[in-house]
Amino acid sequence: MRFNDLPTPSFVVDENLLEKNLKILNGVMERTGCKIILAQKAFSMFATYPLIGEYLSGTTASGLYEARLGYEEMGKENHVFAPAYREDEIDEIIALCDHIIFNSFSQLERFGERVITAGKKIGLRINPEHSTQEGHEIYDPCAPGSRFGVTEKNFRPDLLANVSGLHFHTLCQQDADDLATTLDAVEEKFGQWLPQMEWINFGGGHHITREGYNIPLLENCIKRMQDKYNLKVYLEPGEAIALNAGYLVTSVLDTVNNGIDIAILDTSATCHMPDVLEMPYRPPLLESGEPGEKPYTYRLGGQTCLAGDVIGDYSFDKPLSYGDRLVFGDMAIYSMVKTNTFNGMALPTIALQDKNGDCHIVKKFGYQDFKARLS
Ligand SMILES: *Cc1c(COP(=O)(O)O)cnc(C)c1O
Repeated sequence: MRFNDLPTPSFVVDENLLEKNLKILNGVMERTGCKIILAQKAFSMFATYPLIGEYLSGTTASGLYEARLGYEEMGKENHVFAPAYREDEIDEIIALCDHIIFNSFSQLERFGERVITAGKKIGLRINPEHSTQEGHEIYDPCAPGSRFGVTEKNFRPDLLANVSGLHFHTLCQQDADDLATTLDAVEEKFGQWLPQMEWINFGGGHHITREGYNIPLLENCIKRMQDKYNLKVYLEPGEAIALNAGYLVTSVLDTVNNGIDIAILDTSATCHMPDVLEMPYRPPLLESGEPGEKPYTYRLGGQTCLAGDVIGDYSFDKPLSYGDRLVFGDMAIYSMVKTNTFNGMALPTIALQDKNGDCHIVKKFGYQDFKARLS
């Protein structure tokens, strides 16, 4: 099937673009000896896991279901971190994962013995209390009052015997300079415990595949921890794996005017791309401009009843009309994993564009997918 024949709305992941990212990440692994794993919460299109598994070392999960998905569909290294684990899930999690990361010493005391008995590795999430982002408190695990990671003040060296690695995750869409200053804070607060560890996990938020990212500095950061403390280094980016590797294709259903031209699309910000409202951000739209840049400006809105279900204002060379197809870019990450069926909205079809440019529908959703989540 051709791209232009795909039904709308559809998420389309481009295998060539995905592989381009994977090659960049694999290059970092090859040159440094670090391991990079996929943070599934950003991108869980498991039809692509065989391809991802050719280049990366495995997966990481936020809990039982993602852990099981990584185990079933990639079957390589499988890590997990959750702020707290449930008694009725922890044994299955330990069976599925090789690295179990605890958020606190009380979690370690509650479940650590079982991890060791199963022959798996224990990690501890630390909080270096070093904020490197501004104005984005919901994405800052180092913000005051954060529930993530053990602070220096609460550190318990007496309980470290079974801990083989430390884990921090403090970045979001950031470059390697912020990683470097974070490592300074990690060393200052926790450096004395690093020599007794086997590994360190730098978390996610490294925008490695973004144009202009400072890969040599990242590699220096990795080597610094390898050489100084003899540690195996893990990175677990989500975004960087499928950054700019997919689209959301939609159609114009109607145009109206209320002091401004408005187009209603067969998609929804709140159902299909909730980060547009939550983050918030303006998704790139192919062949469009900023408002007023091209002759015809429209506010693009979704099909739900939410007044704020607006994707943004964009301008075009020609007036929009019924049936026109619009293609949003960078729609592989934090999109498919966050969809919902509010208002009874259908979920977008999921498709793959292969290396020859042919498109294949991987999954279609219908009424049953909406109904099955309710009762
Ligand atoms: C979200 C998250 C990641 C991935 O972050 P990206 O910003 O998508 O790279 C990795 N590790 C942990 C613990 C996370 O919470």
